[in-house]
Amino acid sequence: MTDLKVLITRDAIAKRVGELGADITKDFSGQSIILLGVLKGAAIFLSDLARHVKLDATFDFIGVSSYGNRPSPASELKSGWDSTGEVRLLKDVDQSLKDKNVILVEDILDTGLTMTYLKKLLMARQPRSLKVAALLDKPSRRKLPLEGDYVGFKIPDEFVVGYGLDYAEKYRNLADICVVPRE
Ligand code: 5GP
Repeated sequence: MTDLKVLITRDAIAKRVGELGADITKDFSGQSIILLGVLKGAAIFLSDLARHVKLDATFDFIGVSSYGNRPSPASELKSGWDSTGEVRLLKDVDQSLKDKNVILVEDILDTGLTMTYLKKLLMARQPRSLKVAALLDKPSRRKLPLEGDYVGFKIPDEFVVGYGLDYAEKYRNLADICVVPRE
């Protein structure tokens, strides 16, 4: 796949991630937070965001996959994908979240199924607060009502790669966010 088109440049990403970090710093002033990344797509966003958060912060990671969706990246590109709504936990957090300020860090909000599942799962652990930071948001694809608390960019219904996001596990290491052409 050679004809990827840049949608958001590395410079624009860096500027916006800095702003999100400043917002989080302000909102949680004087408190400590856990940055909880959703594997694998949020890894790069989390590592950049963390360096703009001037707070007592620790990292954790959670892994999920969805049932009944994404038969192949090619068909996903052609017709989008439909989840059955079932999300499977692949890796849980390493610590108790009770009374902690947790910021779930996600690469992209799409249908909202993954985040809705994760929020429900994590709220049962009784954190002091639970917020969602997402680099990208495709609001037009939403199946469940969900708003991110710290959102980098709202984008149209395109399949994007780069800056942690993959196509069949590739392209996560691209510095810019690029659109994969549908045909
Ligand atoms: P949701 O449960 O909100 O539909 O799905 C969120 C997950 O779908 C994201 O964490 C990401 O893994 C995947 N996803 C949704 N849209 C895209 C996209 O445009 N590109 C890539 N690479 N992954 C996407």
